[in-house]
Amino acid sequence: MTAVGVDVGGSKLLAVRIDEAGSVVDEYRTTTPDGGQEMVAGIVAAVQDLAAGDDVAACGVGIAGLVEHDTGTFVWGPHVAGIKIPVRRQLQAELGIVVAIDNDANTTALAEHRLGAGRRSQAMLMLTLGTGIGGAMVFGGSIYRGRAFAGEFGHTRLVDGMNECDCGRRGCWETEAAGPALERMARELIASDPAGSLANSLGDQPVSGPAITAAALAGEPQAIALINQVGRAFGRGLSSLISIFDPDCIVVGGGLGSIGEILLNPIRKSANETRYAADHNELVPIVAAELGERAGAIGAGLLAIDAVGDHE
Ligand SMILES: [Zn+2]
Repeated sequence: MTAVGVDVGGSKLLAVRIDEAGSVVDEYRTTTPDGGQEMVAGIVAAVQDLAAGDDVAACGVGIAGLVEHDTGTFVWGPHVAGIKIPVRRQLQAELGIVVAIDNDANTTALAEHRLGAGRRSQAMLMLTLGTGIGGAMVFGGSIYRGRAFAGEFGHTRLVDGMNECDCGRRGCWETEAAGPALERMARELIASDPAGSLANSLGDQPVSGPAITAAALAGEPQAIALINQVGRAFGRGLSSLISIFDPDCIVVGGGLGSIGEILLNPIRKSANETRYAADHNELVPIVAAELGERAGAIGAGLLAIDAVGDHE
Protein backbone atom coordinates (compact mmCIF):
# COMPACT_ATOMS: atom_id res chain seq x y z
CA MET A 1 0.00 0.00 0.00
CA THR A 2 1.10 3.54 -0.67
CA ALA A 3 -0.43 6.86 0.33
CA VAL A 4 -0.11 10.38 -0.97
CA GLY A 5 0.69 13.21 1.44
CA VAL A 6 0.15 16.80 0.35
CA ASP A 7 1.53 19.90 2.06
CA VAL A 8 -0.33 23.08 1.08
CA GLY A 9 1.77 26.04 2.17
CA GLY A 10 1.50 29.77 1.60
CA SER A 11 3.47 29.63 -1.64
CA LYS A 12 3.97 26.01 -2.69
CA LEU A 13 2.09 22.75 -2.85
CA LEU A 14 4.41 19.79 -2.27
CA ALA A 15 3.16 16.21 -2.49
CA VAL A 16 4.84 12.85 -1.97
CA ARG A 17 3.83 9.24 -2.40
CA ILE A 18 5.10 7.15 0.50
CA ASP A 19 5.11 3.49 1.38
CA GLU A 20 3.89 2.16 4.72
CA ALA A 21 7.27 2.81 6.36
CA GLY A 22 7.09 6.46 5.32
CA SER A 23 9.78 6.23 2.62
CA VAL A 24 9.22 8.60 -0.28
CA VAL A 25 8.56 6.79 -3.57
CA ASP A 26 7.82 9.82 -5.73
CA GLU A 27 7.21 13.56 -5.41
CA TYR A 28 5.32 16.38 -7.10
CA ARG A 29 5.43 20.12 -6.62
CA THR A 30 3.68 23.19 -7.92
CA THR A 31 2.72 26.67 -6.71
CA THR A 32 -0.20 26.93 -4.29
CA PRO A 33 -3.42 27.57 -6.25
CA ASP A 34 -4.97 31.02 -5.77
CA GLY A 35 -8.51 30.22 -4.64
CA GLY A 36 -10.06 27.85 -2.13
CA GLN A 37 -11.77 25.65 -4.72
CA GLU A 38 -8.64 25.63 -6.86
CA MET A 39 -6.80 24.29 -3.82
CA VAL A 40 -8.98 21.15 -3.83
CA ALA A 41 -8.51 20.80 -7.59
CA GLY A 42 -4.75 21.25 -7.11
CA ILE A 43 -4.66 18.47 -4.51
CA VAL A 44 -6.66 16.15 -6.80
CA ALA A 45 -4.19 16.84 -9.63
CA ALA A 46 -1.25 16.06 -7.32
CA VAL A 47 -2.77 12.75 -6.18
CA GLN A 48 -3.65 11.71 -9.72
CA ASP A 49 -0.16 12.56 -10.95
CA LEU A 50 1.53 10.59 -8.19
CA ALA A 51 -0.86 7.63 -8.37
CA ALA A 52 -0.37 7.14 -12.13
CA GLY A 53 -1.94 3.70 -12.19
CA ASP A 54 -0.42 2.49 -8.93
CA ASP A 55 -2.45 1.57 -5.90
CA VAL A 56 -2.90 4.58 -3.63
CA ALA A 57 -5.00 3.71 -0.60
CA ALA A 58 -5.30 7.08 1.03
CA CYS A 59 -4.52 10.77 0.83
CA GLY A 60 -3.46 13.04 3.67
CA VAL A 61 -3.28 16.82 3.49
CA GLY A 62 -1.52 19.32 5.74
CA ILE A 63 -2.65 22.92 5.19
CA ALA A 64 -1.12 26.12 6.59
CA GLY A 65 -3.90 27.62 8.71
CA LEU A 66 -6.78 26.59 10.92
CA VAL A 67 -7.86 23.05 10.08
CA GLU A 68 -10.49 20.96 11.83
CA HIS A 69 -9.08 17.46 11.70
CA ASP A 70 -12.29 15.91 13.06
CA THR A 71 -14.65 17.45 10.47
CA GLY A 72 -12.07 17.61 7.68
CA THR A 73 -12.59 21.35 7.16
CA PHE A 74 -10.07 24.02 6.22
CA VAL A 75 -11.44 26.95 8.22
CA TRP A 76 -9.13 29.88 7.43
CA GLY A 77 -5.48 30.82 7.15
CA PRO A 78 -3.63 34.11 6.74
CA HIS A 79 -1.47 32.69 3.95
CA VAL A 80 -3.85 30.31 2.09
CA ALA A 81 -7.05 31.35 0.23
CA GLY A 82 -10.50 30.00 1.12
CA ILE A 83 -12.83 29.93 4.12
CA LYS A 84 -14.63 26.89 5.60
CA ILE A 85 -13.87 24.51 2.76
CA PRO A 86 -14.97 20.90 3.42
CA VAL A 87 -11.71 19.61 1.93
CA ARG A 88 -11.98 16.03 3.16
CA ARG A 89 -15.55 15.53 1.88
CA GLN A 90 -14.72 17.08 -1.49
CA LEU A 91 -11.54 15.04 -1.89
CA GLN A 92 -13.27 11.82 -0.90
CA ALA A 93 -15.97 12.49 -3.51
CA GLU A 94 -13.37 13.20 -6.21
CA LEU A 95 -10.84 10.50 -5.38
CA GLY A 96 -12.89 7.72 -3.76
CA ILE A 97 -10.16 6.93 -1.20
CA VAL A 98 -9.68 7.56 2.52
CA VAL A 99 -8.74 11.20 3.18
CA ALA A 100 -7.36 12.87 6.33
CA ILE A 101 -6.53 16.54 6.72
CA ASP A 102 -4.70 18.50 9.39
CA ASN A 103 -2.71 21.65 10.04
CA ASP A 104 0.65 21.57 8.24
CA ALA A 105 2.71 22.01 11.41
CA ASN A 106 0.88 18.99 12.87
CA THR A 107 1.74 16.80 9.89
CA THR A 108 5.35 18.03 10.01
CA ALA A 109 5.52 17.18 13.71
CA LEU A 110 4.07 13.72 13.10
CA ALA A 111 6.79 12.98 10.53
CA GLU A 112 9.62 14.31 12.71
CA HIS A 113 8.28 12.35 15.69
CA ARG A 114 7.99 9.03 13.84
CA LEU A 115 10.95 9.27 11.48
CA GLY A 116 13.08 12.30 12.30
CA ALA A 117 14.55 14.40 15.09
CA GLY A 118 11.77 13.69 17.60
CA ARG A 119 12.02 9.90 17.69
CA ARG A 120 11.61 8.57 21.25
CA SER A 121 10.30 11.93 22.53
CA GLN A 122 7.36 11.72 24.92
CA ALA A 123 6.68 15.46 25.01
CA MET A 124 7.80 17.07 21.79
CA LEU A 125 7.31 20.61 20.57
CA MET A 126 7.70 21.28 16.85
CA LEU A 127 8.32 24.81 15.63
CA THR A 128 8.48 25.56 11.93
CA LEU A 129 10.22 28.82 11.19
CA GLY A 130 9.65 30.24 7.73
CA THR A 131 7.13 32.77 6.42
CA GLY A 132 5.65 32.57 9.91
CA ILE A 133 6.05 30.36 12.96
CA GLY A 134 4.01 27.16 12.93
CA GLY A 135 3.72 25.08 16.06
CA ALA A 136 2.64 21.60 17.07
CA MET A 137 2.76 19.31 20.09
CA VAL A 138 3.17 15.53 20.14
CA PHE A 139 2.49 14.13 23.59
CA GLY A 140 2.78 10.40 24.24
CA GLY A 141 2.96 9.79 20.48
CA SER A 142 -0.26 11.68 19.69
CA ILE A 143 -0.78 15.12 18.21
CA TYR A 144 -2.40 17.44 20.74
CA ARG A 145 -5.02 19.56 18.95
CA GLY A 146 -7.00 21.14 21.80
CA ARG A 147 -10.56 21.72 20.53
CA ALA A 148 -9.08 21.87 17.02
CA PHE A 149 -6.55 24.66 16.59
CA ALA A 150 -3.93 24.24 19.33
CA GLY A 151 -0.30 25.20 18.74
CA GLU A 152 -0.62 28.55 16.98
CA PHE A 153 2.45 29.73 18.83
CA GLY A 154 3.38 32.17 16.06
CA HIS A 155 0.35 34.30 16.91
CA THR A 156 0.96 34.58 20.63
CA ARG A 157 2.55 37.70 22.08
CA LEU A 158 5.72 36.20 23.43
CA VAL A 159 8.09 39.07 22.62
CA ASP A 160 8.13 42.87 22.74
CA GLY A 161 7.19 44.78 19.63
CA MET A 162 3.93 45.77 18.02
CA ASN A 163 4.53 45.09 14.36
CA GLU A 164 1.50 44.31 12.22
CA CYS A 165 0.91 40.60 11.55
CA ASP A 166 -0.66 38.90 8.52
CA CYS A 167 -3.39 37.64 10.89
CA GLY A 168 -4.65 41.21 11.29
CA ARG A 169 -3.35 41.86 14.81
CA ARG A 170 -0.17 43.37 16.21
CA GLY A 171 2.69 42.05 18.28
CA CYS A 172 2.56 38.35 17.33
CA TRP A 173 5.75 36.38 17.97
CA GLU A 174 6.27 35.62 14.29
CA THR A 175 6.46 39.35 13.44
CA GLU A 176 9.78 39.44 15.33
CA ALA A 177 11.17 35.98 14.80
CA ALA A 178 10.46 34.59 11.31
CA GLY A 179 11.49 35.13 7.69
CA PRO A 180 9.64 38.43 7.09
CA ALA A 181 11.20 39.93 10.26
CA LEU A 182 14.65 39.00 8.96
CA GLU A 183 13.85 40.66 5.62
CA ARG A 184 12.41 43.78 7.30
CA MET A 185 15.50 44.21 9.48
CA ALA A 186 17.78 43.68 6.51
CA ARG A 187 15.97 46.35 4.47
CA GLU A 188 16.22 48.77 7.41
CA LEU A 189 19.91 48.03 7.82
CA ILE A 190 20.64 48.48 4.11
CA ALA A 191 18.69 51.78 4.07
CA SER A 192 20.73 53.09 7.01
CA ASP A 193 24.05 51.65 5.78
CA PRO A 194 23.84 51.53 1.98
CA ALA A 195 27.60 51.09 1.60
CA GLY A 196 27.79 48.42 4.31
CA SER A 197 28.97 44.85 3.94
CA LEU A 198 25.45 43.34 3.68
CA ALA A 199 24.44 45.78 0.93
CA ASN A 200 27.66 44.95 -0.91
CA SER A 201 27.27 41.25 -0.45
CA LEU A 202 23.65 41.20 -1.73
CA GLY A 203 24.45 43.46 -4.68
CA ASP A 204 21.51 43.49 -7.09
CA GLN A 205 19.74 40.53 -5.49
CA PRO A 206 16.35 41.22 -3.88
CA VAL A 207 16.45 41.29 -0.07
CA SER A 208 15.07 37.82 0.67
CA GLY A 209 15.42 35.38 3.53
CA PRO A 210 17.42 32.88 1.44
CA ALA A 211 19.79 35.64 0.19
CA ILE A 212 20.40 36.89 3.73
CA THR A 213 20.96 33.41 5.14
CA ALA A 214 23.31 32.56 2.26
CA ALA A 215 25.32 35.72 3.07
CA ALA A 216 25.40 34.77 6.75
CA LEU A 217 26.55 31.22 5.99
CA ALA A 218 29.30 32.72 3.81
CA GLY A 219 30.49 34.69 6.86
CA GLU A 220 29.12 38.17 6.09
CA PRO A 221 29.06 39.86 9.54
CA GLN A 222 25.96 42.06 9.17
CA ALA A 223 23.91 39.10 7.92
CA ILE A 224 25.19 36.98 10.83
CA ALA A 225 24.11 39.75 13.24
CA LEU A 226 20.60 39.76 11.74
CA ILE A 227 20.28 35.96 12.00
CA ASN A 228 21.46 36.32 15.57
CA GLN A 229 18.77 38.93 16.28
CA VAL A 230 15.98 36.78 14.83
CA GLY A 231 17.31 33.72 16.68
CA ARG A 232 17.35 35.63 19.95
CA ALA A 233 13.73 36.79 19.48
CA PHE A 234 12.80 33.19 18.69
CA GLY A 235 14.62 31.93 21.78
CA ARG A 236 12.94 34.51 24.04
CA GLY A 237 9.53 33.26 22.95
CA LEU A 238 10.63 29.66 23.28
CA SER A 239 11.52 30.19 26.94
CA SER A 240 7.82 30.81 27.69
CA LEU A 241 6.81 27.65 25.84
CA ILE A 242 9.41 25.71 27.82
CA SER A 243 7.82 26.95 31.07
CA ILE A 244 4.34 26.02 29.88
CA PHE A 245 5.04 22.56 28.44
CA ASP A 246 8.36 21.37 29.91
CA PRO A 247 8.99 19.39 26.70
CA ASP A 248 11.74 16.73 26.44
CA CYS A 249 12.59 17.76 22.86
CA ILE A 250 12.10 20.88 20.74
CA VAL A 251 12.44 20.33 17.01
CA VAL A 252 13.02 23.42 14.87
CA GLY A 253 12.23 23.11 11.17
CA GLY A 254 10.92 25.20 8.28
CA GLY A 255 12.89 27.04 5.60
CA LEU A 256 14.60 29.51 7.92
CA GLY A 257 14.62 27.09 10.88
CA SER A 258 16.65 24.57 8.90
CA ILE A 259 19.75 26.70 8.26
CA GLY A 260 21.56 25.06 11.17
CA GLU A 261 23.73 25.98 14.13
CA ILE A 262 24.17 29.60 13.01
CA LEU A 263 20.53 30.07 14.03
CA LEU A 264 20.16 27.34 16.67
CA ASN A 265 23.02 28.70 18.80
CA PRO A 266 21.47 32.15 19.40
CA ILE A 267 18.10 30.42 19.94
CA ARG A 268 19.54 28.17 22.67
CA LYS A 269 21.48 31.02 24.23
CA SER A 270 18.55 33.42 24.50
CA ALA A 271 16.10 30.67 25.56
CA ASN A 272 18.52 29.79 28.32
CA GLU A 273 19.07 33.40 29.43
CA THR A 274 15.37 34.24 29.61
CA ARG A 275 13.82 31.06 30.93
CA TYR A 276 12.46 30.45 34.40
CA ALA A 277 14.61 28.67 37.02
CA ALA A 278 17.49 28.21 34.60
CA ASP A 279 19.92 27.47 37.45
CA HIS A 280 17.84 24.56 38.69
CA ASN A 281 16.69 22.91 35.53
CA GLU A 282 18.62 21.76 32.47
CA LEU A 283 17.73 23.32 29.12
CA VAL A 284 15.74 20.96 26.91
CA PRO A 285 17.54 19.83 23.72
CA ILE A 286 16.68 22.24 20.89
CA VAL A 287 17.49 20.37 17.68
CA ALA A 288 17.18 20.79 13.93
CA ALA A 289 14.47 18.94 12.04
CA GLU A 290 15.82 16.03 9.99
CA LEU A 291 13.34 15.47 7.20
CA GLY A 292 13.71 18.75 5.32
CA GLU A 293 11.04 20.54 3.35
CA ARG A 294 9.13 17.31 2.61
CA ALA A 295 8.36 16.64 6.30
CA GLY A 296 4.87 18.16 6.14
CA ALA A 297 3.92 16.08 3.11
CA ILE A 298 5.42 12.88 4.57
CA GLY A 299 3.51 13.45 7.82
CA ALA A 300 0.30 14.01 5.86
CA GLY A 301 0.90 10.64 4.18
CA LEU A 302 1.48 8.98 7.56
CA LEU A 303 -1.75 10.54 8.83
CA ALA A 304 -3.54 9.06 5.82
CA ILE A 305 -2.10 5.60 6.50
CA ASP A 306 -3.27 5.89 10.11
CA ALA A 307 -6.72 6.82 8.84
CA VAL A 308 -6.84 3.66 6.69
CA GLY A 309 -6.13 1.67 9.86
CA ASP A 310 -8.97 3.49 11.65
CA HIS A 311 -11.39 2.62 8.80
CA GLU A 312 -10.59 -1.11 8.85
ZN1 LIG B 1 -0.53 37.04 14.01
